[in-house]
Amino acid sequence: MPSTLYRDTAITDARGPNLQVGVSILVRDARIAWIRATGGEEDPGPDVEVVDASGGTAVPGMVDAHSHVTMPGGAHWIERGLDPPEALLRGAEENGRLLTQAGVRWARDVGAPLGVDPVDGRHRALSLGLRDRWRGRSDRPYIRAAGTWVTRAGTLSPGLAAEAEDADALLAHALRQVDDGADLVKLYLDGPDPATAPWSADEVRRVVDACHARDVRVTAHATRFDGTRVCAEAGVDAIEHGFEIDADTAQLMRRRGIVLVSTLTVMRSWRSFATTTALERFTTDEGRARIAARDEAGIASVRACHDAGVAIAAGTDFGGGSPRANAIAWEVEALVDAGLEPWEALAAATWRGGELLGEPEAGVIREGGPADFLLVHGDPLSDPRALWRVWRVAWDS
Ligand SMILES: [Zn+2]
Repeated sequence: MPSTLYRDTAITDARGPNLQVGVSILVRDARIAWIRATGGEEDPGPDVEVVDASGGTAVPGMVDAHSHVTMPGGAHWIERGLDPPEALLRGAEENGRLLTQAGVRWARDVGAPLGVDPVDGRHRALSLGLRDRWRGRSDRPYIRAAGTWVTRAGTLSPGLAAEAEDADALLAHALRQVDDGADLVKLYLDGPDPATAPWSADEVRRVVDACHARDVRVTAHATRFDGTRVCAEAGVDAIEHGFEIDADTAQLMRRRGIVLVSTLTVMRSWRSFATTTALERFTTDEGRARIAARDEAGIASVRACHDAGVAIAAGTDFGGGSPRANAIAWEVEALVDAGLEPWEALAAATWRGGELLGEPEAGVIREGGPADFLLVHGDPLSDPRALWRVWRVAWDS
């Protein structure tokens, strides 16, 4: 396999506000052989493709920390979750292609429909077989998957997720995901009554302790205040969405090392449906006002977490929410609008997600590491919209 020399690019590792310019990167055998000043390149050896990478920036392969790889998104995203497994897995292949083109190297899948996998014949969350089959493919992201959602019965569409009637069933369903091969466990802390947490902190803590004993992290979907508070008190590893986090809860999260996985993209997507659909919940004055209020609350929550020093990882909620699979740049933009510096927002979409996964190579660009970086046209540290302009993905070139 020939080596590739990316010559005269700017580069960022998303650890500070400044780009380094005039850099050359040699990729050999899918790894970064060296990173040098362009004026001081070493001999790259024979059989080298030289890529003029000028005018752009090399960025670590991104991590979409809240994704649903088996679902397509769109304005009818909830119905799509009940499509047959064959259709969902066909769509997942499309998502894998989109993610790669968008520069996403890692997708943390936080919930997939239950079903019989048409390839391996197993009845479990459809993300798990997909994860295994994508392993080792450069044109698909690495997947770390939570199995299915573990909910209080009556919360999601019947047949979609693992539904618990009581706290014992909650624990059993969570451990069932681990037995099925899940990399993490996802609890659903919005209940049938959205304003009230479906479980107590003690009940959630029991799941956290049991999963930690098996070296598996626990995260929780919580959009409302009550469920978020329960999760923070129970010591989950991360809170997904967290649209109603106050300063006190943010402090508690920081003290306990609980990560916020932001998904502000969802509200941006809903807002766009006001003009692209005829669905009343998006188009009416009341619907628009409700979405705007949720957007504002979500931004205020990110601000509260950022002010408190909570680690923030960026997710899009594509598939399980309405966004599509190539929207990670949208989340970085939203985090900047919520007050993060562009480099901090890029950190949320790269190494912060890697830390959340416990994957030291994820979201990192370094000499000797895998060639998991992309090139964008422009400067993502002054304009996060540059992340929409991915023109080359080094791991799949
Ligand atoms: Zn989700």
